[in-house]
Amino acid sequence: MADQVLISTCQCGQVRCQAVGGPILSGVCYCDDCQAGAKMLEALDGAAKVREEDSGTHYLTYRDDRFSCVKGAELLRGYQNAPDTPTRRMVASCCNSAMFLKFAKGHWTSAYASRFAGDVPPVEMRTQTQYRTSTLPLPGDAPVYRAFGAKLFWRLITSRIAMLFG
Ligand SMILES: [Zn+2]
Repeated sequence: MADQVLISTCQCGQVRCQAVGGPILSGVCYCDDCQAGAKMLEALDGAAKVREEDSGTHYLTYRDDRFSCVKGAELLRGYQNAPDTPTRRMVASCCNSAMFLKFAKGHWTSAYASRFAGDVPPVEMRTQTQYRTSTLPLPGDAPVYRAFGAKLFWRLITSRIAMLFG
């Protein structure tokens, strides 16, 4: 069976990214960095919403060899919460759409789920809810972790091993 291909595009269509196969994880993060980053990006001129209603950010995390920008890569611009943070949030500068983020040392890319069309994998976990400030009830769709669940690290480790073996 062919791997599923998911496409994410910016609001105006000049930037397009492609993910092949299933993500390492489909998860919503509420950490302070993600909230601060989202606020910054949502404040850009004409920006699309980055967070969900209850301030969580839904990411599809892929191995680096399964995710790529296939069109308009030259329009991507990196944003950091602070100059020394290892995380760069990549925004399509044509229309200020947050596309994905890259953690400097990681072998993975976390793509903003809201930019994908089609069958987006359902949320598998909600992490870092210790930072959640929303008064809305937590969606009951997935396990909730106050910090990063051990399951998340396990998946990142096993995906690295899988990547080494192709
Ligand atoms: Zn655009």
